[in-house]
Order: sequence, then C-alpha cells, then structure tokens
Amino acid sequence: MIILKNKAELMLMRDSGKIAALARATGGEMAKAGVTTAAIDAKIRQVIRSHGATPSFLGYGGFPGSACISVNDEVIHGIPSDRVLKDGDIVKIDVGAFYKGFHSDCAATFAVGQVSEEALKLIAVTEESFRQGMAKAVPDARLGDISAAVQAYVEANGFSVVREYVGHGVGRELHEDPSLPNFGTPGRGVRLRSGMTLAIEPMVNVGVYDVRVLSDDWTVVTADGKLSAHYENTVAITDNGPVILTAL
Ligand code: MG
Repeated sequence: MIILKNKAELMLMRDSGKIAALARATGGEMAKAGVTTAAIDAKIRQVIRSHGATPSFLGYGGFPGSACISVNDEVIHGIPSDRVLKDGDIVKIDVGAFYKGFHSDCAATFAVGQVSEEALKLIAVTEESFRQGMAKAVPDARLGDISAAVQAYVEANGFSVVREYVGHGVGRELHEDPSLPNFGTPGRGVRLRSGMTLAIEPMVNVGVYDVRVLSDDWTVVTADGKLSAHYENTVAITDNGPVILTAL
C-alpha cells in the first residue's frame, strides 16, 4: 500500500531530509585519502544526533553503521571499517535520518583525490540519471516512466543499471511501497499521485549489471569487479512538480 503524505507531513520529511543531506555532505567533505570509512561514519552519526535525529540505518536489520559506505566496486551496503581511502577511489555514502516520525534517505558518490576519466563520467552519469528520473515524478505519470528514464540515460552512456536492488517509498518506514526499479517501461506501473514520497536511487555499473553479496552478508559488489556509483534523494511528488526533500 502506498502511503500519501499531507502537507504537514511533507514539511516534517523536509526537516528530516535536511539533516540527512547535511550528513551526506559532511561525509563527502571527509572523503579524502588517508581517512577511514569508520571515521566518516562516526562523523555522520554525530551530525545526525546533534540535530536531534536518529541514524535510520544503525541497527536496521542488524546493520552496524550509521551510514553505508561503499568503495569502488562496492555498490551499496558497505560496512564502515578501518579501510583507509586512497587517491583514485570513489566512495558512495548512503545516509538515512529519522526525525519527528519520518525517515529520509539519500546517497552520493564522491571522488577521492584524482580519479580516472571513467570514474568521473560514471559519477556524472549516475547523478544525471537521477535527475532524468525525477523529472518524470509528476502526478498522473506512471512509476515506469521514472524507471525507464533512468535506464535510458544510463544505457545511452554505455553503463548498466543494477537490477537486484531498487528504490522505494519512504516515510514513517524507511522502506515503503512502491518498489522503484531503475529499469522499466514507460506508461507501466502504478499511477503517480501528489503526496507520494520516493527514494529515487540509481545504482550504475561500468560493466555488467550483475552483483553479488560478500561474506559479511551486507556489502554488495559488482560481479565483474568494475566500478559502481550510486546517487539518491528522497523526492516528494507534488502538484507543483517533484521536490527534493533531502536537500540542504
Ligand atoms: Mg534508499
């Protein structure tokens, strides 16, 4: 069941989203050579808590971090650790905040120092594919319009979209209906309505779209070991068009 949010609820989600966006930005500023992913996670936890919010991911299904921090071929769900970032890495920071009864969820991919041309293109294409998808998030469109727009942009740029993990509704629960694949057919799927709140989150691979899960039971990596990028915002569908709730 898709839960619509009224204006007051959307304002609370916007407050939550500001905190998640700040945590994401703070993490991104720390993504430099010599820094551990655990240090970034600790700072993110501090930022979220200092605003009176709770990290949505901490303890979710037993997840041990406040953020998912995934490096290079790691797609999503990387566990913060003593891994030291190095020049040329790309790092995905995925953050959720729970505030005044509502979750918000956002992610971005950051370059550590000097990265390859391919990595820069991957990061840019992934972020733009989010924007292409978001542009379709308007009342009376279909869910598949978002999915298809993401997929078309990614594939036109020679990359692939992950199939096994998808975007989702978000609100009082971190994961609500509907599931939002990053691939699909225009004109298919549920009709979009004002008051829907969606985590639109393309996961984009340089090589094949296949992924596997490491023995830690969390970290999702590309099957071919090539790079992956992730970009996500919580977006509200309104009569005035899509609104990014996870903005500063
Ligand atoms: Mg998400």
